[in-house]
Amino acid sequence: MTDALRIIPLGGLGEVGKNMTLYELGDERILVDAGLAFPRDEHLGVDLVLPDFSYLYDHPLHAIVLTHGHEDHVGALPYVLREIEVGEVIATRLTLGLIKSKLDEHGLAQTTDLREADPEGEPLVLGPFTLRFVRMAHSIPDAVAIVVDTPAGRVLHTGDWKLDHTPVDGLKTDVGRLAALGNEGVDLLLGDSTNAERPGMTGSERLVGEAFRQLIPLREGRIVVASFASNIHRVQQAAEVAIENGRRVAVVGRSMRKNMNIARSLGYVDLPDDAIVSPKEAMDLPPDRVLILCTGSQGEPMSALTRIAYGDHPNITVERGDTVIISAKPVPGNELRVHDSINRLAQAGAEVLHQEIAPVHVSGHACSEELRTLLSLVRPRAVMPIHGEYRMLAAHAQLARDSGVPEESIVIAENGAVVQLDARGVRIVDRVDSGVTFVDGLGVGDVQDVALRDRRRLSEDGVLIVVTTIATSDGNEIAPPELIARGFAEDDELLDDLRDEAERVVAELGANGITEIKLLQEHVHDAIGQVVYDRTRRRPMILPVVIEV
Ligand SMILES: [Zn+2]
Ligand SMILES: [Zn+2]
Repeated sequence: MTDALRIIPLGGLGEVGKNMTLYELGDERILVDAGLAFPRDEHLGVDLVLPDFSYLYDHPLHAIVLTHGHEDHVGALPYVLREIEVGEVIATRLTLGLIKSKLDEHGLAQTTDLREADPEGEPLVLGPFTLRFVRMAHSIPDAVAIVVDTPAGRVLHTGDWKLDHTPVDGLKTDVGRLAALGNEGVDLLLGDSTNAERPGMTGSERLVGEAFRQLIPLREGRIVVASFASNIHRVQQAAEVAIENGRRVAVVGRSMRKNMNIARSLGYVDLPDDAIVSPKEAMDLPPDRVLILCTGSQGEPMSALTRIAYGDHPNITVERGDTVIISAKPVPGNELRVHDSINRLAQAGAEVLHQEIAPVHVSGHACSEELRTLLSLVRPRAVMPIHGEYRMLAAHAQLARDSGVPEESIVIAENGAVVQLDARGVRIVDRVDSGVTFVDGLGVGDVQDVALRDRRRLSEDGVLIVVTTIATSDGNEIAPPELIARGFAEDDELLDDLRDEAERVVAELGANGITEIKLLQEHVHDAIGQVVYDRTRRRPMILPVVIEV
């Protein structure tokens, strides 16, 4: 048995997203979190971005332990479970509820052992690792920090957290337990750095409820509230205020419906059945009698709010007098998309309230005062900032320095670094492969058919560029689409058919008055991808380009 604990972040450092950290003692391993990142614009044609977890192939994992149910912590789980031998998945009750439906969709529910993590329960022993859980407040219920006891020392891995003294469910960050841990002695703190640059304290989730309480009664038109589907307390607060004001609630968007169903069935959200209406029923009600909860707060191309903004939603439209509340902050990289949505909604006549002009959002992450509080409660011997871009990690490191942690005991690592904790302290000793893996499905929601592929396969499958030229005036196509194929399909007949398909899609959208470039690109991408896959079983990278002249 070795007495050196190796901590290897495979994702989540130098970025916000795809959190994944390996704890390794000899050949014994546990993984904390298995998250994904949102694709950025330069990942055109890619649905999901996962950490490169090829380092995990060598040895089985005792367990994957999840801090909470956000996609940047659990989204890669099915892909890891498909490739890696994993003893069990351990998470709190709501997190288990959320991942169960995800595992179901991927056909993994029968073959995965799940175990509930209980902050009040006995420690869990997994080989040389003993795990305990500490309740933390965050923007999703049931988040925990993980205490990892090993022969090499004790580590506290915070997960995402903030100090919310008045959380909606009353379950506060357990500062008593954190102080007790400080007395036991913590050798290394791995702490959330997202808001380390921001001064002061993050507001309580309850402040958003108060904002809803002020805004919603004054409105006379329809109200649309967009937020992360996982922000269950946010959604609940909006729905409660709406119901109090005589509105009924429609839940729109696949992930929003799914999360609401799970949260309601597990008792995390309590809303009367008769207050819920279908999107279609909602549009038949008088505008001042309805509130629509939807996805799309990040401007995701095929999400409910984006489709509403571009007049492309099958049920919901907005018009003058309506109010749209975007109750979220854009994840870095999504700002332009969100601005586009806001402009479109404003053009349609809606008043758009977002975090820059109304207190309709609070962060889920601790600001610098809260990080200072945690450092003084836990008094860690060493600190490794996690969860953030480099500047956030550096700001967190500075807070640790200020709190008296010696310079040589602060490690700013990057993805793939091997951080060793042993009797001599903590330092970076090695590097392993890290990076990104792309997942390209055949359209949103088509999870059964998602193909996992890395960069190598991407290059094997080739690239297909579809150039469509439309008239700025009316969106009509003014030249047949051009196709450029590289490393793919020498077959002229297939290329002809793809050209016809692109032409058909553009014509159909034009006939429906949809001329927005991003939507055209998405529709062309999905349609062409489907035909290529049906005919060749290959998934080239498809780059739809729309030129307006
Ligand atoms: Zn996170
Ligand atoms: Zn989170």
